[in-house]
Amino acid sequence: MMNIGIDVGGMTIKSGIVDENCNIIETLIISTEVEKGFEKIAQNMVDMINNLVKKAKLTLNDIDTIGVGIPGVADEKGKIYFATNLYWVDVDLGKILRDNFPSQKIYVENDATVACVAEHSFGSIKGVKNAIMLTLGTGVGGGIIINGEKYSGSNGIGSEIGHMVINRGDNFYECSCGNNGCFETYCSALAIIKYAQKLVEDEEYSGKLKGIKKEDITAKLIFEGYEEKDDLCVKVVDRFIDNLSTGIANLINIFAPEFITLGGGVSNSYNLYIDELYKKVQEKIIFKKLPFARIVKAQLGNNAGIIGAAMLK
Ligand SMILES: [Zn+2]
Repeated sequence: MMNIGIDVGGMTIKSGIVDENCNIIETLIISTEVEKGFEKIAQNMVDMINNLVKKAKLTLNDIDTIGVGIPGVADEKGKIYFATNLYWVDVDLGKILRDNFPSQKIYVENDATVACVAEHSFGSIKGVKNAIMLTLGTGVGGGIIINGEKYSGSNGIGSEIGHMVINRGDNFYECSCGNNGCFETYCSALAIIKYAQKLVEDEEYSGKLKGIKKEDITAKLIFEGYEEKDDLCVKVVDRFIDNLSTGIANLINIFAPEFITLGGGVSNSYNLYIDELYKKVQEKIIFKKLPFARIVKAQLGNNAGIIGAAMLK
């Protein structure tokens, strides 16, 4: 039997058929077309699944499970409470998929949890008993493995690590969830960019980012500036590292995982900040005498979303 994994992003929806050995044997990608709304996108997903099966010269009888990773919060039945970037609120993707594919088991999960499942199956945290994944992208996503199993909490809505408040009321902008001080408003790529944009405006500064249009400032540029010891970039990245260490120290104090793995775009600069990060985490954890979690970089690239979704159970 084979499984289908679907990775729903803001730009594209990627799907793949994955065999028993976790090899992707066929893929199909469509545009998300966010502006057309949930009903149309869900119908496109149903069509995509049928076309994918056809493309692989299989029938639905060959497919055991259909798993979907979404950038939002879903319960165990696949009802999505919200997916902010897609403008979905209280939509029932699980029901639509079950109605169309009654013979398959349907799973809908948060995309960071899906990535974590893939990393745990054959990536940076393979076979580890207790681990946490942070995806440092547009937001900060969280995946939790406890005793070798993914943990999503009651009703499947836990693991929202990005919305752990680490500095109440301290930040200059509010989180998409409405709180001020969420982890992701300090440690996502967007957070890093926003802070750099603010400093470029606020401060007397004539370094690397001066003259670059505000909307053209990227996290990559900021990390390059950090490496070149540009004052503003150093200030931005130091703030990122300090807050990342606070979030990670909290997670270590609560979960004591063996591993924390960092994924998403900001993990590309891992080598630049890992030493400083370790130092600050060490300062902030409670049990300083015991060894604490190894902080590693995620290994799986673009297809982790498809494979992780196909492995949901
Ligand atoms: Zn938040």
